[in-house]
Amino acid sequence: MEINKKKTVKLNNGIEFGLDKKIIIAGPCSIESREHILIEAENLKNLGVDILRGGAFKPRTNPRDFQGLGFEGLEFLKEAGDKYDLPVISEVTSEEYIDDMYDFVDIYQVGARNMYNYELLKKLGKVDKPVLLKRGLSATINEWIFASEYISQAGNDKIIFCERGIRSFDSATRNVLDIGGAVLVQQMTNRPVIADPSHGSGLRHLVYPLAKASLAAGLDGIMVESHFNPKEAMTDSDQCISYDTLGEILKYVR
Ligand code: PEP
Ligand code: MN
Repeated sequence: MEINKKKTVKLNNGIEFGLDKKIIIAGPCSIESREHILIEAENLKNLGVDILRGGAFKPRTNPRDFQGLGFEGLEFLKEAGDKYDLPVISEVTSEEYIDDMYDFVDIYQVGARNMYNYELLKKLGKVDKPVLLKRGLSATINEWIFASEYISQAGNDKIIFCERGIRSFDSATRNVLDIGGAVLVQQMTNRPVIADPSHGSGLRHLVYPLAKASLAAGLDGIMVESHFNPKEAMTDSDQCISYDTLGEILKYVR
């Protein structure tokens, strides 16, 4: 029996999390329109990004804020991914949406606010597609790992952890990216762990240094929010990076 073998997670197009190659997920916080996501996909493909992200169901803190385009947005995301040969990831905010999302995503994202939604996790355990499990806003490492076990125990072993920053006493940054905690989860579970330095800091000028730190620490990839006009992004614009910065990250990685 092989002990401590890394459990990699492979997508249908061959991209595999947990090998030497670092996986770069990028794209806008939310899908703003069909034209928007098509432009983003074309540019991100040219830059060399591996996977396209885009939120369609947005779990916004303020219920009056833009909530995303829903299933229509997912159709646009899938069209863009197909056109530019990019796998896509989007957040599933309710167990009700899992089946209808199936044909539109390559990876289901579980957001920080839903890490404790055990019914959602159990149902994702019945699906044969990978799940990216974000860390809860103030989840301990053990709670995060237990959450993943709701998915694996129900039958789905394709789990990727994503450290997205935790709340602290200091409001200078939106969250504190816990790189040490992320490496610890990698060591404890032997599963792929990536970092999200966009939500992990809330500040676009910290995304590049934190992306480098995460990758240098040995994490398996990063997920960042980018936009062709970051200051005009409809959601999370303060933490959204330009193609120039994304290009710098890709140069560092490759
Ligand atoms: C997101 O990735 O757009 C998102 C809402 O992230 P989180 O769940 O980490 O806040
Ligand atoms: Mn966001």
